[in-house]
Amino acid sequence: MNAYLSSVIEHVKTRHANEPEFVQTVEEVLSSLEPVIEKHPEYEKADLLTRMVEPERMFTFRVCWMADDGTWHTNIGYRCQFNGAIGPYKGGLRFQKNVYPGIIKFLGFEQVFKNSLTGLPIGGGKGGSDFDPAGKSDAEIMRFCQSFMQALYRYIGPDVDVPAGDMGVGAKEIGYLYGEYRRLKGAFENGVLTGKGFSYGGSLIRPEATGFGAVYYLENVLKHEGEELKGKTIACAGFGNVTWGICKKATELGAKVVTLSGPDGYVYDPDGVATAEKIAYLVEMRNSGRNVVKDYADKFGVEFHAGEKPWGVKVDVVMPSAMQNDVHMEQAKQIAANGVKYYIEVANMPTTNDALKFLMEQPGVIVAPSKAVNAGGVATSALEMAQNSERLVWTEEEVDKQLHQIMDTIYSMSVEAAEMYGLGYNLVAGANIAGFQRVADAMMAQGVF
Ligand code: GLU
Repeated sequence: MNAYLSSVIEHVKTRHANEPEFVQTVEEVLSSLEPVIEKHPEYEKADLLTRMVEPERMFTFRVCWMADDGTWHTNIGYRCQFNGAIGPYKGGLRFQKNVYPGIIKFLGFEQVFKNSLTGLPIGGGKGGSDFDPAGKSDAEIMRFCQSFMQALYRYIGPDVDVPAGDMGVGAKEIGYLYGEYRRLKGAFENGVLTGKGFSYGGSLIRPEATGFGAVYYLENVLKHEGEELKGKTIACAGFGNVTWGICKKATELGAKVVTLSGPDGYVYDPDGVATAEKIAYLVEMRNSGRNVVKDYADKFGVEFHAGEKPWGVKVDVVMPSAMQNDVHMEQAKQIAANGVKYYIEVANMPTTNDALKFLMEQPGVIVAPSKAVNAGGVATSALEMAQNSERLVWTEEEVDKQLHQIMDTIYSMSVEAAEMYGLGYNLVAGANIAGFQRVADAMMAQGVF
């Protein structure tokens, strides 16, 4: 590999030795940039990459809250304002017990490139807490969110940093967070958060957007192969918002999602998660706070495989949509052996780097990267920000039309970027290069800091 790129990767490995997820994403992205760095010696000259892998700012804060039984608890809150060169920092908050700086930083780094790919004016950020929402009452979640916002509100704003949801943070949490922000600021600045409820400035289609966007992206890939979505079987993981959106759109377009997964195992529904009742049940299951997918199998009488992941199921399209590092080498081999043609990442970094490389090398397997496939979520968040600043509400058709166009553009920009650097049809490298280019131009123009 190019000596400059290797030296930046080595630097990150040393400085972030205890943050393997961050090192992983930096290696993945930077390894795609070789032809770009060679064609543009000015980047090395300005040592642009060493700055790009360092968050502009990252901080922690104490979040104390009282449980219903009167006991006090203290969690750590995080916000990483990774790169603001092309717009206010933008990215979700993750509430999950395994959250630590390495997770926040990897998500923040991915977000910079993803947000750039949308073509919209949003920089990259991420945040969250090691708070575990599982089994907490509504009142506990509200007190936690209020305390979290008391610590964070000074550092965010509609033109500064705009958090949203991620795992463990949905419309309910965003509501409590916004209520506290409004109370503290004494102003209705609802562009400070996205993923809000519709009644106070949320965008129509935002809840569905990540899943819908992923399906629109998939349609582009299928079209390239002369195929269509109709009749395809899809294996999904997870059973949250994203998977729900995929089920909805895939069903509408005649495809079938046959697996869902949770921390307890996976379900196989050969008829597909394809009726309004089944799709609605996903939301109910997520909102129950139980965090188990077996409930679906019990309710609809389908197979449940305890403790297993769905990657052994024979399908046309695999869409890992649950969490990071869900697919390792062993599962990648299984997927390839099953003759799966389309490997479409949806969750942030769902594949280990060696597994991703392996799948990309398989003849006949097409791999699409999550930072492009799931970008419809944050893109629609940017549309929500636009509506908030215009003080207007766009129709469902308008938002969906824009989302669809954005996904088509992300796909074609990725294809063109890879071709331009002689990499052929490589959606992974193309997304990294296209995302990089815009942020790099903006950073170069704004001087060294
Ligand atoms: N957490 C989502 C993501 O990974 C959404 C972020 C947002 O809407 O700001 O992109």
